[in-house]
Amino acid sequence: MQTVAVIGAGQMGSGIAQVVAQAGLKVLLSDVSVELAENAKAKIAKGLLRLVQKDKITESAVAEALSLIVPVGDYAPMAEADLIIEAATEREEIKHRIFEAAGKVLAPGAIMASNTSSIPITRMAVSSPDPARFIGVHFFNPVPVMKLVEVIPGLATSRETVAAVRGFVARLGKEAVQSEDEAGFIVNRILVPMLNEACFVLGSGTASVADIDKGCRLGLNHPMGALELADFIGLDTCLEIMRVIHASTGDSKYRPAPLLAKYVEAGWLGRKSGKGFYDYSGETPVPTR
Ligand code: NAD
Repeated sequence: MQTVAVIGAGQMGSGIAQVVAQAGLKVLLSDVSVELAENAKAKIAKGLLRLVQKDKITESAVAEALSLIVPVGDYAPMAEADLIIEAATEREEIKHRIFEAAGKVLAPGAIMASNTSSIPITRMAVSSPDPARFIGVHFFNPVPVMKLVEVIPGLATSRETVAAVRGFVARLGKEAVQSEDEAGFIVNRILVPMLNEACFVLGSGTASVADIDKGCRLGLNHPMGALELADFIGLDTCLEIMRVIHASTGDSKYRPAPLLAKYVEAGWLGRKSGKGFYDYSGETPVPTR
C-alpha cells in the first residue's frame, strides 16, 4: 500500500491523515472544498509542531509527514489510491453520495472504507463499485493517541479485503478488533447509549452537568465525564449514532434523549463548535447547565 485517500477532513479525517502520513504513506486529503482540506493540513502541522516543542518528535519527521499530505479538491486524483477512507459527517445520505462519486475513480483492486461510527457497512457497500472491496475501518478520537481500530466486514466483504485492512492497521502501529456488521459495532454500542443516558439524567433534572461528570470520573473511574466525552465526540455524531442504533434495532431503549437533539438543533455540537454541555470560549470549560 502506498497511497491512501481520506474524504472528510474534520477531527477524524485529519487525525487519520496524520497517522497515515506518519507511517510513511502518501495521503490525498479532501473535504467539501480544497480550502477546507488545506486548513485541515495547517491544523495538523500546528499539532505536530507542538509535539516538536515537547521533544516528542523531530522537526525532520514533521517535515517528512507534512510533505506526504496533499490536499485535493476533487476525486480524480484518488484514482492513484490503494485505499479510500471516507470520514465525512455521520449522515448516511452524504456517505452514499461520496461512495458513488469516489467509486467512479476507484482503481481496480483498491479498497473503499468508511470510518462511520454506527451505520451498517453492508447497507453502504451497495453504493460502492464492488462490495467485496468495501469495509468499515473505525478509528477512535483523537486518532494519533487512541490505539484501537475496529474492522467491520460487510456481508460481501472479501477475506482479502479484511486481511489488507488489518495489515494497514498494523502498519499504523494500531490494534484491531473485528466486529460483525451490527449498528454501533462493539465500542459505540456500549458507550453511546451510556452517554445518551447521561443526557436523560441531565434532562430530567436529576443532577447538574458538573455532578454527572464528577460522578462518572470518581464513581466509575472514567478519565472523562459522560457529558464531557459527548462534547468531545461531537453531539451531532452522538445523536446520529443513537438514531442509527434505534432505527436498526427498533428497540425503544435506544431512543435519543430529547435534550441531546435540542442541543444539536441549537448548533451546540460540543468542543468543535465551541459550546455543548460546556462552554469552551474561556481558559477552562464552564458547564452550560
Ligand atoms: P467532523 O464534523 O469533525 O468532520 C466531518 C467533515 O466532513 C467536515 O469537515 C465536513 O466538511 C466534511 N464533509 C461533509 N460532507 C462532505 C462531503 N460530501 N465530502 C467531503 N467531506 C464532507 O466529524 P468527525 O468527528 O470527524 O466525524 C467524521 C466521521 O467519523 C463520522 O462518520 C463519525 O461518525 C466518525 N467518527 C467520529 C468519531 C468522533 O469521536 N468524533 C470517532 C470515530 C468515528
